[in-house]
Amino acid sequence: MFLLDLHCDTITRLYRGEHLQSGDNQLRENQAHLSLKRMGGGWGQCFAIFLPDEYCGQRAIEEFETCYAYFQHQIAENQDLVQQVRTAEEMESVIKAEKIAAVLTVEGGSVLAGDLSRVQTLVDAVVKILTFTWNGRNELASGTLTDEGLTPLGRAVIPLLEQGGIIIDVSHLNETGFWELDQIAGKPFIASHSNARSVCDHPRNLTDQQFKRLVQRGGLVGINFCPQFISSLENPNFDALAAHIQHFLELGGEDILALGSDYDGTDVPEWLNPGEKLWNFSELLEKRFGKELAEKICWRNALDFFYRYEAQGEATSQS
Ligand SMILES: [Zn+2]
Repeated sequence: MFLLDLHCDTITRLYRGEHLQSGDNQLRENQAHLSLKRMGGGWGQCFAIFLPDEYCGQRAIEEFETCYAYFQHQIAENQDLVQQVRTAEEMESVIKAEKIAAVLTVEGGSVLAGDLSRVQTLVDAVVKILTFTWNGRNELASGTLTDEGLTPLGRAVIPLLEQGGIIIDVSHLNETGFWELDQIAGKPFIASHSNARSVCDHPRNLTDQQFKRLVQRGGLVGINFCPQFISSLENPNFDALAAHIQHFLELGGEDILALGSDYDGTDVPEWLNPGEKLWNFSELLEKRFGKELAEKICWRNALDFFYRYEAQGEATSQS
């Protein structure tokens, strides 16, 4: 078994000085959910640089630059354990060499500071996924706290991201924005850390219609461990989380389900804390859903998606 997780906020959290142990090498050992030492190998991890919606202009640019430099420093200090990967092929070979594949992502379109030419900055930094919004409004679109759709800039940036090989992530985006993006996008897009709204009625979760569209388009959906997105009950157990997977499977999601832990972006249930419990989770999935499906959810579907996205090259946009 390998693991490939689509979303965590560990880098941002460490960068902001939370959960640190002494010393310089914070990604290796820390008190956060995820550390390289606890992850071990055979693990692909998307590390998000988080830009709050209210960061704009120069402040957004500086936040990205300094957090990116921090990320690079942490990776360079730990080359024996981890490597930043540029392609699906690199991702696969690093994971299969029992090392950690670090995939850089950005959560928050405010990273562009309203300037389309900054897409190239993300391409140069090998950012593989951009979450369009957080919960509020930015220069591209609005999150789940409002129901406004995409801005003209948000529409214009879609083909540029696709051409740059940057996957668009609709987790946090509101429904209006989701369906507008669906009209414009030429390539598949993903929801990196969202669950099923029919199982737990939270605006951060996907409606059945949205999920079915993601299936049709060959997208990807990462299951989120945030208790509020799993159940209205406190401390949801494995069965509560498995209910989301079961529901998505009934909607035809066998080939698009993945992990979107949200480690260090939220509290998680005790049985998933700290991050190395993801290995136990994979065993529980295997017992419940069988080996083949567990492998798909834990890493195979996500890796296949990265390959598929690259193979589509510069798909022409529909508008
Ligand atoms: Zn998030």
